[in-house]
Amino acid sequence: MSSIETLTVHGLGRVAEPYRDIVPPIHLASTFERAADGSYPGGRVYARDGSPAYIEAEEVLRQLEGGSQALLFASGHAAATAVLQALEAGDRVVAPQSMYWALRKWLLDRAEHGHIQLAFYDNADIDDLRRQLAAAPTRLLWIETPANPTWEITDIRTASTLAREHGAMTLVDSTVPTPVLSQPLALGADIVLHSATKYLNGHSDVVAGALATREDSPLWQRVRAMRNLGGAVLGPFEAWLLLRGMRTLHLRVRAACASALKLATELEAHPAIAQALYPGLASHPGHATAAAQMSGGFGGMLSIRVKGGEAAAREVAARVRVFKRATSLGSVESLIEHRASVEGPGTRCPDDLLRLSVGIEPVEDLLADLQQALQV
Ligand SMILES: *Cc1c(COP(=O)(O)O)cnc(C)c1O
Repeated sequence: MSSIETLTVHGLGRVAEPYRDIVPPIHLASTFERAADGSYPGGRVYARDGSPAYIEAEEVLRQLEGGSQALLFASGHAAATAVLQALEAGDRVVAPQSMYWALRKWLLDRAEHGHIQLAFYDNADIDDLRRQLAAAPTRLLWIETPANPTWEITDIRTASTLAREHGAMTLVDSTVPTPVLSQPLALGADIVLHSATKYLNGHSDVVAGALATREDSPLWQRVRAMRNLGGAVLGPFEAWLLLRGMRTLHLRVRAACASALKLATELEAHPAIAQALYPGLASHPGHATAAAQMSGGFGGMLSIRVKGGEAAAREVAARVRVFKRATSLGSVESLIEHRASVEGPGTRCPDDLLRLSVGIEPVEDLLADLQQALQV
């Protein structure tokens, strides 16, 4: 195979015996036969330890991330939970102020109940990160870049170097950029997290999560054990759908990036828009860092702040016809959501903000839809 894209398109390219299937069969077995001598000739004991249904998808992901190992989970949250469970009680986590809301709430909950210590840093401010890391011994630095829902950029290389100097490991939630645009492990991160529900699967029909690691560390061994013992394992059919979704990952992500840049550029100049938030815009404070550490585009996610506040923003969302009003991101169909009302009490999201997940429809259709929705 010549390139990572060819490998991905072929879904590893294994042909299954005896019928020479071009796509892999779905392994449904929960348990595997022992030989008379008690050994396991198939190398598998029980599906919760690691189902053969995961082989292709985990290997494609491992190669996409340039890691040494990858693991599938029942959801992005299950993957994050396995990492938190792998820590020692009271370990300190330093996390960004802006990040996927439900995981931020989860970290706060774990801290409130005494499982971890928690401190936050300003996503784009390396000096603030340095202060937080210096304040107390830290086990894990959490990065999300571009970060939900305002798309701040964190310099992965500098941040993970700082973390290492302070004895901490670095995890990057790379759900939004995907391995097509960003390679956190090559920039020095230790673990990459994905909600595979989003771009990796790409069709709004699977909930799944994944982790990839640069090295087979003791922490990683515990993460692997936590998947088995915590039991949040993915079903075989979902693993199969995920592999199918990943086969078009590069095409989908590139199409979404091109359209997102076009929309952000047009919307930034629109009289009804107060601000367009997209790292591909020169006006975005993280643009230069994003350009340096991402390749091929700035992602398919952007947000717009609508003049006239919350009511005006909700009216725009109410008027769209092509965009679907729904949470989530990274699918072939474009989605729009009034983010603050989804996040609920305590949200840090401005109430005039609409989050857009740009799909793969022709950009003219998307632009026309937003323009008619913005007309007052
Ligand atoms: C959706 C999402 C998650 C959570 O993943 P689930 O698959 O919904 O559990 C984590 N991080 C980011 C950036 C996400 O968009």
